[in-house]
Amino acid sequence: MVAVYAAAKVELSRCTGCKLCILACPDPNVIWFLPDDKKVKVEATRCKGCGLCVTTCSKAALVLEALTERART
Ligand code: SF4
Ligand code: SF4
Repeated sequence: MVAVYAAAKVELSRCTGCKLCILACPDPNVIWFLPDDKKVKVEATRCKGCGLCVTTCSKAALVLEALTERART
């Protein structure tokens, strides 16, 4: 049996780099701001899949993506 988890994923073309998702995330080490690109990235292996960032982003730049256990390692 393959375990399936959810993790947030950034649609970079929609992200404006406003950082609201970073503030919304309960863990400070999951979403990182990329200063050069002015976008954010999600460390999928640390994401709990709670979805708070998804509901915070007004640009619809975050989605929850299903990951298998294999994909997280
Ligand atoms: S809230 Fe949305 S637009 Fe703002 S930095 Fe996060 S992903 Fe990008
Ligand atoms: S889904 Fe939850 S844990 Fe994952 S990046 Fe978004 S707010 Fe953080």
